[in-house]
Amino acid sequence: MGEERWFYRDAEERTAIAERLKQTTCPHCKSAGTLIRHGFLYGFDESSPRQKTVRARRIFCSNRQARPGCGRTFSVWIADKIRRLSLTAGALWQFLQLAVAASILAASRAVDCRLSDRTWQRIWRRFNRAQSKIRTALCGRCPPPELPPRAPTNPSRLPAAQVLAHLQAAFPNVPCPIAAFQYAMHAFFI
Ligand SMILES: [Zn+2]
Repeated sequence: MGEERWFYRDAEERTAIAERLKQTTCPHCKSAGTLIRHGFLYGFDESSPRQKTVRARRIFCSNRQARPGCGRTFSVWIADKIRRLSLTAGALWQFLQLAVAASILAASRAVDCRLSDRTWQRIWRRFNRAQSKIRTALCGRCPPPELPPRAPTNPSRLPAAQVLAHLQAAFPNVPCPIAAFQYAMHAFFI
């Protein structure tokens, strides 16, 4: 699924990543001992609509003071964040389930995020484009369920319903299968 991404789920894992940094190799140049912490990425989402929250920790492969790094940066993401979108993985999961079962409009009204209808349409299209990559990644973990638990009212939503059912089968008993996907697959969901 392209470039490997790193994710952490909680403060404990964030600390563990920070402590291992000196032994971790840079994903760009493969040097070891060059990585240092380099601030944060911030953004809005429905959990904090007025104040930006941390989305990712930035890491720098240091080439300063004669260190042999490549000078590039990369980010270690919180598993519950969705890149370039102001909503959490939990809200996206809720939206997609409702969009499949009912409609994009009904789903956008039900999810507690102040995003415009155009943004919700864009999110849906982004999920549609990502579906084949998501399916491939999930097949490495478990076979798809034969049928989604409830067939969608709109037959054109069947492929999407199947992807969501597959996601849930791959990550059962977690509060948010999308966050679990990002964490386990080292990849952005969309
Ligand atoms: Zn490097």
